[in-house]
Amino acid sequence: MKRIIYLLVLTVSTSTFGQSTINGLLKVKSDVYFADRDSAYADPYYGLKKLIYGNKRFAENKSINPRQTDADLKNNELGQKPFATIIGCADSRVPNEIIFDQGVGDLFITRTAGQVMAEASYGTIEYATVALNTKLIVVLGHESCGAVDAAMKLPENPPGHVVSLINAIKPSALKAKAANLDDTKELDFAVRSNVLEQVKLLRSLEPILSREFDKGEVLIVGAVYNLSSGKVEFIEETITSLPKFK
Ligand SMILES: [Zn+2]
Repeated sequence: MKRIIYLLVLTVSTSTFGQSTINGLLKVKSDVYFADRDSAYADPYYGLKKLIYGNKRFAENKSINPRQTDADLKNNELGQKPFATIIGCADSRVPNEIIFDQGVGDLFITRTAGQVMAEASYGTIEYATVALNTKLIVVLGHESCGAVDAAMKLPENPPGHVVSLINAIKPSALKAKAANLDDTKELDFAVRSNVLEQVKLLRSLEPILSREFDKGEVLIVGAVYNLSSGKVEFIEETITSLPKFK
């Protein structure tokens, strides 16, 4: 029974149905490529659209590389108003500003292998929430993640501090193994499961994020980046479980 449930979850969340559901909820339009920056900062649901449109530009080779002119840089002296916090993997193939086609001052980012978080990461994310008033938090995993792959091998003696990464990802690795999938699907499952666990963790992280999420002031969602297509797929259940859509 357990196996059937796991397979079902994976099938549903990797289907294109998921993206069309998200597009419908967020009112993402197929012929639109841009979203206003000030609106994205004020409204995290709009911020999500801005990320979706930016990634669409990148994946379709239509990037505009915004907010990088001399005038933009000069304005940075006045302060920052990033409209999204990204918790991403350190992998060199997942450069956040490039894949979302955003500019200087747009994204507040913390990156570690497997986007594993610890105290300093929590403080970083909370800082963006309370001091910068950033209302959108995205946990961004990616296809073929080396950290997740390493955890899947369940190594007995990982070198040095790598053990902290393996231990954090291990529950998702074990879940993926229990699902009895073939190798690629198993890794995809573990990547997705790791993101879902991290989203869950942040949504219940006291004292700041859990409170802000419950109030609907801050959105916390998960996504997975596909290395070969360049597309970011937001995970449907992390969108449909947002306060506005429940
Ligand atoms: Zn990775």
